[in-house]
This record gives sequence, structure tokens and C-alpha cells, in this order.
Amino acid sequence: MNSCLIPLGAIAGRQILTVEGVANGSLHPVQTAMAKLGGSQCGYCTPGFIMSLFAAYYDGTIESDEAIEGNLCRCTGYLPIRQAAKEAAQTPPVDHFAEALGHATPELTAIAYQSEAQQFYRPTSLRDVLTLLQQYPNATLVAGATDLGLELSWHRQVYPVMISLEAVPELKTIEQTSDWVEIGAAVPLSQIETQLHGVFPAMDEMLHWFAARQVRNRATLGGNIGTASPIGDMPPVLLALDARVRLASAAGERVIALADFFKGYRVTDLQAGEVIASIQILKGMTPGATRRLSQSYKIGKRGTDDISIVAAAYVVDLDQQNRIVHARLAYGGVAATPIRAIAVEQAIVGQTWDLPTIQRVKPMLHETFTPLDDLRGSADYRKRLVANLFEKFFVETSAAHAEVSA
Ligand SMILES: Cc1cc2nc3c(=O)[nH]c(=O)nc-3n(C[C@H](O)[C@H](O)[C@H](O)COP(=O)(O)OP(=O)(O)OC[C@H]3O[C@@H](n4cnc5c(N)ncnc54)[C@H](O)[C@@H]3O)c2cc1C
Repeated sequence: MNSCLIPLGAIAGRQILTVEGVANGSLHPVQTAMAKLGGSQCGYCTPGFIMSLFAAYYDGTIESDEAIEGNLCRCTGYLPIRQAAKEAAQTPPVDHFAEALGHATPELTAIAYQSEAQQFYRPTSLRDVLTLLQQYPNATLVAGATDLGLELSWHRQVYPVMISLEAVPELKTIEQTSDWVEIGAAVPLSQIETQLHGVFPAMDEMLHWFAARQVRNRATLGGNIGTASPIGDMPPVLLALDARVRLASAAGERVIALADFFKGYRVTDLQAGEVIASIQILKGMTPGATRRLSQSYKIGKRGTDDISIVAAAYVVDLDQQNRIVHARLAYGGVAATPIRAIAVEQAIVGQTWDLPTIQRVKPMLHETFTPLDDLRGSADYRKRLVANLFEKFFVETSAAHAEVSA
């Protein structure tokens, strides 16, 4: 995780290792390899690379680029760092760190900290969260803090009362049956990636491009929809999957469609005293459908660890005759909220899933939204992406189908 994004209160009950601390008398194998292979030049990014490689050394991912996708190097170049990772992988991780990792992680305990101007609570049940919210209806909920952390460290925002959700078991489980999935709002994205891998292809794809490993180890779906950012990457996927949001308060619970949760630019339907408890998604296809196609796309200036220019997610259900019986086209980065192209969805239902249909709706898609110009991309570029990504979806899914049929 990124230490600069963690509120100090969240550290309670955890061990902190520093780049000096991993050395333990002599250099750690990743430090030795980085020094030997010239993986450090100006040294500015080196502590971060060492800590990421250190973590990956123990979880067996050290040779994958994912281990360091959240670390930016601007002078050494990635080649010697990759070579150092390969070299370190040759030494088996048998030491006291490996032994400590073999022990069960201690459960997070409840905490209540108070300083002059701030209170930080970490309750350990949903009931306690809701009681605290009755007491402090305008408290700031904090899940992974990967969004709020920037407000704290960069904008020096002071939140008088913070309620952490990361020790609340009811918000940290993924339940699954053959028909539906319910994801606790405070489940870290990395856990969703592994536990739900293969269930929703569009979700797998977007999670892969979401920030970087360090952020996904902390970031949650509750936080991603809680920000109501128009460029949040998971809302288009969840909108395409017709996800519903379960909201809890001391007065009870309600479930609403995610599409109704977003009310305007960074405004949600969440009322004072409410918490996002979970996200519910049905697995099955529309009745009458025999095949489901789905995929998501993220267009940014670099692969990982970047903000979307446009994100898109599609779900199309087809019947035996290759006719569209259900369509969801959802986008981020093109309006004040994550949004669906509802008119286009309605227009293509009943049509044949072929290139002429796609060509017919592309002009309509191009005119569906009026995105903004900003430093990431022009309005015109975004409009073209809205249309062209749908065609890309058609081409890719058709090619995959042709391959399977052959
Ligand atoms: C380096 C970096 C890269 C990033 N890359 C991406 C990216 O690729 N794509 C992307 O979409 N985002 C990205 N983000 C933004 C951020 O990681 C996501 O928005 C993330 O999902 C936020 O989740 P969190 O648990 O950390 O939320 P927090 O920061 O804890 O909370 C965010 C907001 O949601 C509210 N909230 C959290 N949980 C709940 C709940 N259960 N009920 C009600 N309200 C709640 C909080 O009060 C707060 O207003 C990035 C951030 C960083 C720092």
C-alpha cells in the first residue's frame, strides 16, 4: 500500500516496515540485487521500488511487472529494475519475514482516537458504524483512503470526525451463489480480483487497469462509487452489469439501482447517517438469450496508474438467431456522472448483432454525450471514443466467437 495515503489512525495494530528496517543487519536480497544491477540512479524512487519488490518477493509475484506497476522511475529506466527483480527471485524467501507472514494476521481491533480537532473511530461491527453515524451524521467515512488520502496529504483537508470501515466484517465479505454476487463495500479490489476472477470478464479487465497493485490492495468499490467521480473506473462496469447498491442506516436498509445512486457531479443519493453496505450483481443472462458478450475498456495516457480519458463497459445478450435481446453501454469520462447510453441501448434491441447494426448506431453514439475538453483529451476525441470503443467491442467479441466456432 502507499504509506502517503494512509491516515495515521489506520495503522493501529499493524507493523510498519521501513526501507531501512527490511535490511535487518545486512542488505535484503532485493536491495542487494538493486545495488548490484544498477537499479537505482537518482535514488528518489528507490525506497518505493525496494518496498514493492520486498512485498512481491514474499508473495511470489516479484517477476511480474504488476509488482512495480505503481512505482514510477524517471531516470534509471525499468530494465535494470526488472533485472534486479529476476536476480532477487533466485534467492528463496526463507527468513524471519517469511516466517512472520506464515502466522495468521491479527484481527483489527476497535479504536477511538481523539486529538484537539479530530476524532478517528475504527468500529468492528456495522451496528457500531450506524450508532456512530447517528451520533455524528456528518462524519467522514473512510474505507481504503486512496481517494481521501489525497485530500489529507495533498490538500491538507481536516475532517473533524472520521469513521473507518476497514474492521467491519459485514462490509468485508463477498457472497456468491449460482445466481448472484454480493460484494461488501469495504472489500479491497485486490481481493475482488482474485475471489471473483472469471465471473464477470468486464470486471476482470477493468480491475487489471485500475490504478496499480498498491492502490488496489486498499481501494474498495464502496469508495469508488462513494466519490461519484465521473471518471471512476468501476461504475461503468457496474452500470453495464445492472448492479444494485445496498444502503444501510440505523433506520433500516434500502436497495437501489446504481444508475439511481449518481445524482449529479460528485453528488450521490447517500443520505446523512447512511453507509454503502454492498454492491449486488445478478449473474445470469436475460431470459431468451443464449449468449452473453461483455467487455470493458479504459483509455488513458499510460497503461496502469493513470486516470481514464474515457472508460467503457458493454454487456450484450444475444438469442439463438444472433439478435440482441439486451444491451448495456456504460461510460465514464463523458458526462457529470458515470452514465449509460440508454437511447442507443433501446435502439439496438431486436437488431442483428452484425457490422451494419454497429455502423448504423455509431453516429448516434457519437452524438449521445457532450463531454468536456480538458488536458487529458478533447471533447471530440472523447465522442469518437464513445462510438469507436463500441465497434472495437463488436470486432473483438466477433473475432473471439469465430475462433471458438472454428
Ligand atoms: C495513485 C492512484 C491511482 C488511482 N487510480 C484510479 C483508477 O485507475 N481508477 C479509479 O477509478 N480510481 C483511481 N484512484 C482513486 C481511488 O483509488 C478510487 O476512487 C478508490 O476506489 C477509492 O476507494 P477507497 O476505498 O480508497 O475510498 P476512500 O478514499 O476511503 O473514500 C472515498 C469516498 O467514498 C466514501 N466512502 C467510502 N466507502 C464508503 C461506504 N461504504 N459508504 C459510503 N461512503 C463511502 C468516503 O467517505 C469518501 O468520500 C486512484 C487513486 C490513487 C491515489
